[in-house]
Amino acid sequence: MRKRILLLEDEQAIADTLLYALQSEAFEVVHVRLVAEAMDAFHSRSPDLAILDVGVPDGSGFDVCRAIRKTSEMPIVFLTARHEEFDRVLGLELGADDYVVKPFSPREVCARVRAILRRSGAGPAVPSPSPAPQGLQLQLDEATQRITCGGEFLPLTRYEFQLLATLLRRPERIFSRVELMDLVWGGALDTSDRTVDAHVKLLRAKLRARGVQAELIQTHRNMGYSIRAVS
Ligand code: CA
Repeated sequence: MRKRILLLEDEQAIADTLLYALQSEAFEVVHVRLVAEAMDAFHSRSPDLAILDVGVPDGSGFDVCRAIRKTSEMPIVFLTARHEEFDRVLGLELGADDYVVKPFSPREVCARVRAILRRSGAGPAVPSPSPAPQGLQLQLDEATQRITCGGEFLPLTRYEFQLLATLLRRPERIFSRVELMDLVWGGALDTSDRTVDAHVKLLRAKLRARGVQAELIQTHRNMGYSIRAVS
């Protein structure tokens, strides 16, 4: 069954590239430019997922998200402007599943949409005949700020911990290197893409030493890193 995407975006050029990319992946797209139109389409077209621009002429994608969340758990992805850290945080707090920072590659947006739909299992809830997938061997304990691997405490440096914790909080979510520099290193002056790559390498080595499969932390070419939901 084709999945229907509600796209709120008032800039025609951006909407066009997204329409093209999503339609060529066989998604059905309902494109609107205003908050009012988005709410109409949400009620009348029953989309499977919404992509919401933050700034539109008659309001904000945040308004649409708030309204949708009153009645629906439908996956929501925000399109936010670069350097609008506040927007990203607010979007996630309002219950968005993900956000993409402009300018973005349409391919990246499609990959995020696919991942979210897969995760949300979009469709009627049918009890699974197979046992639930085994949980991740890694457990993040937010209270003690520790990560255990197969029940054993995993010794990590401060940045290794922050990096792994960031990935673990949102399994399957792809984080770009820039996002990770932001979230893990908080804009420390001497960070670069290589800092991120080097720490991923160190983490993989530590995990491998504990018998965790190396591909648990996945590299997405030109996009960044994610951690798998199950091991
Ligand atoms: Ca806009």
